[in-house]
Amino acid sequence: MVTSQLLSSIPGIRHAFGSAAELVPAALAPVWPRRPAKRQVHGTRVAAITDAQQEVGDADGFHTRAAGIPVSIITADCVPLLLARRDGSQVGAVHAGWRGLQDRIIPAAIAAMGPAASTLVAAVGPTICVDCYEVSEELADAFAASFGPAAVPRFRHLDLRAIAGQQLRAAGVQEIEHVGGCTCCRRDAAGEPFYRSYRRGDRGSQMHSGLYITPEGEK
Ligand SMILES: [Zn+2]
Repeated sequence: MVTSQLLSSIPGIRHAFGSAAELVPAALAPVWPRRPAKRQVHGTRVAAITDAQQEVGDADGFHTRAAGIPVSIITADCVPLLLARRDGSQVGAVHAGWRGLQDRIIPAAIAAMGPAASTLVAAVGPTICVDCYEVSEELADAFAASFGPAAVPRFRHLDLRAIAGQQLRAAGVQEIEHVGGCTCCRRDAAGEPFYRSYRRGDRGSQMHSGLYITPEGEK
């Protein structure tokens, strides 16, 4: 199971990032049927979730203060970002690929969650690494222009994690943990891919990552 120490330290929430062995993490199973109905579209819309099985439509960010309803995203190389208020009163999940990062879904999600970004903690989950993520020269140039040299540490290679971290800090989030390694090149003990990776050729079976506020009485 892929988890964050930082999120594990928050009272009254459960979270996990998906992997090839656990496309839907077991930690989310108790509330999984209550998840919102959504379509991720590499956009910047962020939806407030108030009801179980809420019909959300197109969105790539989700947040809730309701107990027992998971907010989650699917990814296979893009950044899965999980957020929680330090007192456990609010959680959020954001899908940020290069397009979402370019269009700044992360600051949009943090703004949508309300004031006091400094009381949020963030876990950036399994994401394609710099070595594995080669892009066009045009895209690399655009990212260098928008986000500086740290976004493009090698010729034509983007560092999605670094950009996500930069946007979180700029939005006022101070506690940020990076977990899980690379979706494309991480292997398990048997040498098999640890994650699903779109770049490596996986199609049609992405990984879910998410979190929820535990209902009263659930241990
Ligand atoms: Zn890699």
